[in-house]
Amino acid sequence: METTNKAKLMDGSAPAKRMLARAKGKVEKIRRAAQMTPTLATVLVGDDLASATYVRMKRKRCEDAGMKSLLLEMPHGTTTGQIVAEIEKLGADPTVHGILVQHPVPQPIDKRAAFEAIPIEKDVDGVTSGTLGRVILGMPSFASCTPAGIMALLGEYHVELDGTHAVVIGRSPILGRPMASMLINAHATVTLCHSRTRSLPSIVRNADVVIAAVGRPRFVQGGWIKVGAVVIDAGYNPGNIGDVDFEGALEPCSLITPVPGGVGPMTIATLIDQTADAAALQLGIEL
Ligand code: NAP
Repeated sequence: METTNKAKLMDGSAPAKRMLARAKGKVEKIRRAAQMTPTLATVLVGDDLASATYVRMKRKRCEDAGMKSLLLEMPHGTTTGQIVAEIEKLGADPTVHGILVQHPVPQPIDKRAAFEAIPIEKDVDGVTSGTLGRVILGMPSFASCTPAGIMALLGEYHVELDGTHAVVIGRSPILGRPMASMLINAHATVTLCHSRTRSLPSIVRNADVVIAAVGRPRFVQGGWIKVGAVVIDAGYNPGNIGDVDFEGALEPCSLITPVPGGVGPMTIATLIDQTADAAALQLGIEL
């Protein structure tokens, strides 16, 4: 029984390592061809411990891939105008190829205004409205890293999406909405659920693919999962707890992502890979 359940795990760590190795190769090529090191600038505002940890992890992966990582730390109390001005400076700096604004940003900063200050060609975290528009239309672009990482993971496990019913729970601009668009573009029939959705369990019971992006620990119950469904848990709650009741969902599902070690590593690898691609595009280097 244990081996069967193990075979259901969608490990994100190994494919993320492979993606990072490919990104490192791209970085080396760019450095040789352009005599310039691809650079990711990260803007971190305030003193949120979890955000500081995420930023440390992302910077480490960046450096492992041979890229430069710039950190712009701004104090709690920074205004929207101040953060927008700094992002605009990074946007105009030709030595910076990607910009990441770590979120959540403290109140009362207008997060959307901060995101929109990132030029689309440097939006390697996929947070601007311009990027989302391109993702919805299926145009070439960078994409929000978590849904793009999930699509890559589904591909690694050869999950056939064409014609399936996918249920996405959560409609945030960085996760649920781009996720739904990517699944539609892959020819799934998508139901996008949120806090006002009625009869959520019965909708999920009809899903061939479930994407949980809610931000509530163990919210999606095992009893909601159809036999044979693929379950992707994008949730990351304090204590390494996902948005899915993992133990309950393991029996009926055919594949499931663990937390940690599922979606998380794919998200960071996608960020690094997209930064390498952004540098290549800006420097006119064909990869
Ligand atoms: P968010 O902006 O807070 O959005 C949460 C979404 O869940 C909203 O659309 C909300 O609906 C919906 N929701 C809340 N309660 C619900 C309920 N009872 N029933 C149905 N839907 C409900 O969160 P997010 O940024 O998208 O993140 C979602 C989760 O993914 C979090 O656990 C976060 O930590 C995780 N995450 C992980 C990664 C990673 O790399 N692994 C990256 C980003 C986020 P309304 O729109 O109606 O309010």
